[in-house]
This record gives sequence, structure tokens and C-alpha cells, in this order.
Amino acid sequence: MKIIAATKNPGKIREIQKILGQLGFEVMSQATAGIDVDIEETGDTFEKNALIKARAVAMMCDNPVLADDSGLCVEALGGRPGVYSARYAGEGASDADKIEKLLSELDGVKNRKAKFVTSAAFIFPDGREITVSGEVHGTILTEPRGENGFGYDPVFYSDELKKTFAEADDDEKNSVSHRSRALQALCEKLKDESF
Ligand code: IMP
Repeated sequence: MKIIAATKNPGKIREIQKILGQLGFEVMSQATAGIDVDIEETGDTFEKNALIKARAVAMMCDNPVLADDSGLCVEALGGRPGVYSARYAGEGASDADKIEKLLSELDGVKNRKAKFVTSAAFIFPDGREITVSGEVHGTILTEPRGENGFGYDPVFYSDELKKTFAEADDDEKNSVSHRSRALQALCEKLKDESF
């Protein structure tokens, strides 16, 4: 069965295919499915934003739809940047700009605990909705380390991997990441559902 992933990110499609492929699903991007829609993420939680994206795409096709929303939550910043992680340093700012802003906000701050969170929403053609989430915990370093990944990876030191996400390769990151944990949780729930 074909699932439409409500994302324009090819890396995410590959990761979703790897995990949901175990259940025999074939994952197709919304672009491949010919769905061109710009969706405003107006929710104040990851779950609301995942649902906003999934519902917008589900309205335009007859397939099951999967969408996710993620971000970095820093304890000393009261959970910020959270749902604003992509726009934290302004619209169009680079990853380096975001990291610079984060490090300056945390300058001199002792508590550097943080987590990445993903919420995923799955909508069946008959309208049933499933939401799940995944988290990974770590520490924000005082300077970037590593060249891999994207976003905040160079300053996110994973408690489990004992290195930053930018020092980890794809398989290592996927073995603990918020996104893969949310997708695994979804996979478990889908095993009990009828299509
Ligand atoms: P998205 O909802 O998955 O597109 O994530 C929103 C923003 O959160 C991204 O633009 C990144 O800045 C940040 N982010 C989400 N996941 C990760 C990750 O795995 N590593 C680093 N940054 C991430």
C-alpha cells in the first residue's frame, strides 16, 4: 500500500521508507504524488503542527498520509525554541545563525539539558487519525563539533551516543533519534490497525 509523506525533505522520505517498509508500505513524497500545497505551521505543539500538515495533504488524496514535526527543546529556555526551531533566528536564517543564537542565549548557563522531539500524525483514507511522539535527550555544548547532519546537530551531544549528532553517522543517529523513535512507535500502532 502506498503512503504519502507530507514532506519535501528527501532524507526524511528515505528514513520513513526504511522503517515503514517493514510493514510492506511504499512511501511516496507529496511532490511525487503531485500534491503541491504550502502549509502554514500555526500550531503551538509539535502534535498540532503534524496534524495540520497531514490533514492538508489528506484532503488532496485518497491514500494514507504521514506528517511529522520536530524541534529542539532546551530546559533552561523553558522548552524553547520548540515549535519555532526552524525559525528561531528569523525566516531564512542559516543553521550556523541558529546555533550562534542558541549559544549566545546559553552563554554562562549551567543547565544545558535539551531534547529533540518529533510528533508524527498518520491519517487513514477513512479519516481515522493516529499520533505518536519520540524524544532523545542530550546536552548543548558550548561550541559546535562534527560535520554531519543538519540543524542543531553540531551542538547536540547525545547522552546515549556519547558524541554530537554531527559526529555520528546516519545509522548511529537513526538508532536513537527522536524521528526514528516516533516512526517506530507509529509502526507498532499500525500493526494493530486495519486498512
Ligand atoms: P522539522 O519539523 O523536522 O522540519 O524540524 C524543524 C527544525 O527543528 C529544523 O529546521 C531543525 O532546525 C530542527 N531539527 C529537527 N530535527 C533535527 C535534527 O535531527 N537535528 C538537528 N536539528 C533538528
